[in-house]
Amino acid sequence: MNINLQEKFAAQYHKNAEAIYFTPGRVNLIGEHIDYNGGLVMPCAISLGTWVAIAPNNEGKFRFKSLNFDLEATVNSNTVNDKNGTTWANYPVGVINEFIKDGREINGLDFLFYGNIPIGSGLSSSASIEIATAYALNTYLNLGYDKLALVKIAKRVENDFIGLNSGIMDQFAVTFGEEDKAIVLDCDTLKYKMVDVDLGNYVVAIINTNKPRELADSKYNERVAECQAALKLLNEEITLHYLCELNAEKFALHSHLINDETLLNRATHVVKENDRVHLAAKALSGGDLTAFGRLMYASHESLRTLYEVSGKELDAVVDFCSDYKHVIGARMTGAGFGGCAIALLEKGYEEDFAKHLTDYYVDKIGYPATIYVSNISDGPHLVTDTIGQT
Ligand code: ADP
Ligand code: MG
Repeated sequence: MNINLQEKFAAQYHKNAEAIYFTPGRVNLIGEHIDYNGGLVMPCAISLGTWVAIAPNNEGKFRFKSLNFDLEATVNSNTVNDKNGTTWANYPVGVINEFIKDGREINGLDFLFYGNIPIGSGLSSSASIEIATAYALNTYLNLGYDKLALVKIAKRVENDFIGLNSGIMDQFAVTFGEEDKAIVLDCDTLKYKMVDVDLGNYVVAIINTNKPRELADSKYNERVAECQAALKLLNEEITLHYLCELNAEKFALHSHLINDETLLNRATHVVKENDRVHLAAKALSGGDLTAFGRLMYASHESLRTLYEVSGKELDAVVDFCSDYKHVIGARMTGAGFGGCAIALLEKGYEEDFAKHLTDYYVDKIGYPATIYVSNISDGPHLVTDTIGQT
């Protein structure tokens, strides 16, 4: 189904939108729960994303409508620093608040959003709507920020306005993504390189478990706190800003300081996962997809057993993949506790995979998963046509 955003905008606001922008979602190929630990991650932007149509109004108000939610919101310019309950509009409101705090003058605007990213499924619809808003305002109003400044603004919204202590990966990925490239990002220094993703005879399949991520945010913040607690114990002997400053070998010299089994498990995952990303980057640039796939499985196992952020739904998908001949690697992606997994699937087996996975998954879990084959796509841009694909 196609959606004509210009028509929807006119129906909502009785005028035309003056500009429409698109911002992608993302998948993280490997390096999970690493960004807030200052290590290396490997995300890429995907072809699913968020559109935003905007036009000014003369009423000094910000009006927000999303085709994905029933609730509409209107916020006065002088109350844009107030969080309004748990409504989705906090994401764009938080962005406007950041711009105003930074001394930019922003007056009345009307917004219409539409996203085809499954929401709350670990493909970062939140970073997508944040950057969609930030990119649209920066471009349309000529605010003069560079891309990294937008990323940092959107991260502040997620951390301070929404209250999720996430790292920088999601906002960075949806902003810096490029077609057919992965971003190898050092989340401490923010140095990054773009690596060609040549998957040869394979595609990245995205499997949404369709499990609602209940309690995901509080569990996420709990993991962040556990990593900080492990870091504090290590700091009794060595000075570290982040767990990922240690590789597995160096970590083994100091890990006795972490005298709590849970904290030790969390830190072990982080250190070894970070090492895996280094190996995965080499495997990808060397064209060794089999090695890359093995690292994906190892990543999932560590997230399941040491970091405890998987669940029976994600495990069912990865278990199926490991027995399915035409997949060479699979893992959960994103924060976990439900949400999506990714798999490196041999081209030509998309339908067969979907059919057999669906049978297996329904049998185990009781309802179907949704399977997408995604392209690796570009970051935010103006769209000239007015059609958002569902
Ligand atoms: P994820 O980022 O994994 O998709 P989050 O829970 O971090 O999940 O973010 C999802 C929230 O982001 C939604 O509940 C909603 O508040 C907001 N959001 C994302 N996409 C849209 C959209 N198209 N329209 C309105 N709000 C959206
Ligand atoms: Mg999110």
